Amino acid sequence: MFSTELATVSYIGATILFILSLGGLSNQQTALRGNLYGMIGMTIAVLATVFGPQVTGAGIPWIIGAMLIGGSIGLYAARTVQMTQMPELVALMHSMVGLAAMLVGFSTFIDPEASKGFVGAAKSIHEMEIYIGILIGAVTFSGSIVAFGKLSGRIGGNPLLLPGRHWLNLAGLLVVIWFGREFMNAHTIADGMMPLMVMTVIALLFGIHMVMAIGGADMPVVVSMLNSYSGWAAAATGFMLSNDLLIVTGALVGSSGAILSYIMCKAMARSFISVIAGGFGTASAAPAPAGGPAQPAGEVFPILALETAELMREAKSVIIVPGYGMAVAQAQHTVYEITKLLRAKGVNVRFGIHPVAGRMPGHMNVLLAEAKVPYDIVFEMDELNDDFPKTDLVMVIGANDIVNPGAQDDPNSPIAGMPVLEVWKAKTSIVMKRSMASGYAGVDNPLFYKENNRMLFGDAKKMLDEVLTALKA
Ligand code: NDP
Repeated sequence: MFSTELATVSYIGATILFILSLGGLSNQQTALRGNLYGMIGMTIAVLATVFGPQVTGAGIPWIIGAMLIGGSIGLYAARTVQMTQMPELVALMHSMVGLAAMLVGFSTFIDPEASKGFVGAAKSIHEMEIYIGILIGAVTFSGSIVAFGKLSGRIGGNPLLLPGRHWLNLAGLLVVIWFGREFMNAHTIADGMMPLMVMTVIALLFGIHMVMAIGGADMPVVVSMLNSYSGWAAAATGFMLSNDLLIVTGALVGSSGAILSYIMCKAMARSFISVIAGGFGTASAAPAPAGGPAQPAGEVFPILALETAELMREAKSVIIVPGYGMAVAQAQHTVYEITKLLRAKGVNVRFGIHPVAGRMPGHMNVLLAEAKVPYDIVFEMDELNDDFPKTDLVMVIGANDIVNPGAQDDPNSPIAGMPVLEVWKAKTSIVMKRSMASGYAGVDNPLFYKENNRMLFGDAKKMLDEVLTALKA
């Protein structure tokens, strides 16, 4: 059992490990170590909390029972989830943090023991913690559920733009502030319950509205923003439970999520406020449903795997641009086999990674690391974009929106202004995908009709296997 002193020391140790973990995760070479620090920190944190002074003996079996059930579900989900379903799983997990914050808020409010000893200013602060904690929790919960629906395709990618949506949001905010005052002035639990319930319903509706109003290509920002919200929800829970470690951990997740959202916004040339307010860049054009047939806009030039291998053999410099389709096809290992073969022949092969490629931040980096692609040939968009005119061949593997020239040329495009990899500037580009279908943002891609572009139709893994066989022959 942990004494108060030992629990405090353990909490400080866990906090340091979490900070080291975040530091480690910022770089691919140290990411493994960062994960390890995080795991050790979390183990210490859980042990120091469950066996710490705040938990009485009778509560321990309940906690362990709940951990066994929750842990088994988590383990099962983590083991069975497909790599392509990872973003949905993450969104679902964020919703759990929001739900937990809501439940802790309500139970803290109705438990007379939890408010014992709070008088005057301390009582007001305690009530404010509950109110704000439930507010953030509810927005995170419903927003993450809608994000889960959108990422898994259960809800369409098109933004839902209600008339006067900004006014609706503003009205919701004013009502929440008004009922906050009512809540703080309530003398009994029964009196406080009504304003709390009204606020919760408004917060839940706001979460739904906020994410429903986001257009396809802006979803990455929402995902990282909900990540940040889940951190603040955890921090709020820490305040309600008077648990310092939860406050610190929540603040770490909250602030790192906010920084990530900022980076994603910058990468997509979006204004953070506009994305949150919803529907940015989508009012002028109604995108087709993601994955749906795109409007034919010219002639395309198909190519065979054999010819692709031929072009590769002749090239001196090749840039590979992976996208969501590579994750779906699980083609990363074959891609690396081809890379090794070409490099052995002296071809300069590099990878170009767009910040929002795939369906979660860092999606492509994870896949390439899994296939053991060396980090020194993996480059970010900004590092490579000037090199395309000097490149013989670009292989676009299951990517679409991130290589769409319409983002630069068509001001009416829903992805107008989003920086893209300028693959069409290379001598030849080959796009590998199964059909002419659009990507996540649901827009047609003029790249497919360019004269120096070829289309290699088929599943990326199957086609690359054929290319590999041809290269070896
Ligand atoms: P896209 O969704 O634009 O395009 C992926 C393409 O892959 C599709 O057009 C599809 O075409 C093709 N594809 C699917 N399965 C296969 C397969 N088995 N073999 C070969 N091709 C396949 O992906 P990008 O990576 O280019 O862009 C990411 C998009 O997702 C952006 O719009 C981004 O905003 C959004 N997004 C990103 C998130 C993030 O955090 N990274 C989160 C949420 C959204 P076809 O069906 O013809 O094969």
